[in-house]
Amino acid sequence: MKLDFSSKLRRYLKKIEAETGRHIKFRESNELGIKSITAAYQYHPKYILITLNTDYPRSRDDMERSIAHEATHGYLIHRLGFCRSLYTQDSTEDYRKEVQLVFTMVEDIVVNKIIEDNGFPPFGHEYLPMVQEEIKIAKMGEEVGESFYGRFTDDYRLEAILMISRHIIAWGFLKYYSLSPEQSEIINEFIEVFKTYYPDYYEFSAQIVKLMEEKDIFNPRDGCDVIYEILKMFKMDVGVRLVRE
Ligand SMILES: [Zn+2]
Repeated sequence: MKLDFSSKLRRYLKKIEAETGRHIKFRESNELGIKSITAAYQYHPKYILITLNTDYPRSRDDMERSIAHEATHGYLIHRLGFCRSLYTQDSTEDYRKEVQLVFTMVEDIVVNKIIEDNGFPPFGHEYLPMVQEEIKIAKMGEEVGESFYGRFTDDYRLEAILMISRHIIAWGFLKYYSLSPEQSEIINEFIEVFKTYYPDYYEFSAQIVKLMEEKDIFNPRDGCDVIYEILKMFKMDVGVRLVRE
């Protein structure tokens, strides 16, 4: 695999390696759990592992942003003291993916803020067009929404968490980032239609928003508590322990 990164990305990855004392390693795979994602972080005690999906080409800027994003997940664990998941042996692959998505909905808000502070855009070029598409879908009602998100996974629980996470990530951008009026308008509309058209899912989203508002998710301990509370809320806390390095 040939990796030809810009000097900005090389500098950022070097900084992460220096501050975490871990090498960043890349590998290729087209099995990343949720269809259509380009890169994924995977915990490893010694390295920061990033898997790239080369079947899903994106612009160089988006690819680089995505790599910076995934590397920052490692930074959260190995430098900032965020927690990671430790599964019981009998936990299924589906369950692990679901738990991972709960981690993501909290930690992505933190990760995107850090990459923004390091000169990368907080979201890729596809994000807002995707949200606009999701607004249209939402207006068609809950069942259409479910089959839309169902395209990304065959697991119903993962599909539900995915829907909720789209709302939480959008809410996070409005709450914690300085967006242009045009960007805010799109994201705000998604939040509104989500509430109106997906009432069953919004019920969970609203509880998660409340948890996040009560704590400071940028603080590793609070962030971890919020993740745990969400897992409990979904009755998903049994097969996993949240541990720190
Ligand atoms: Zn992420």
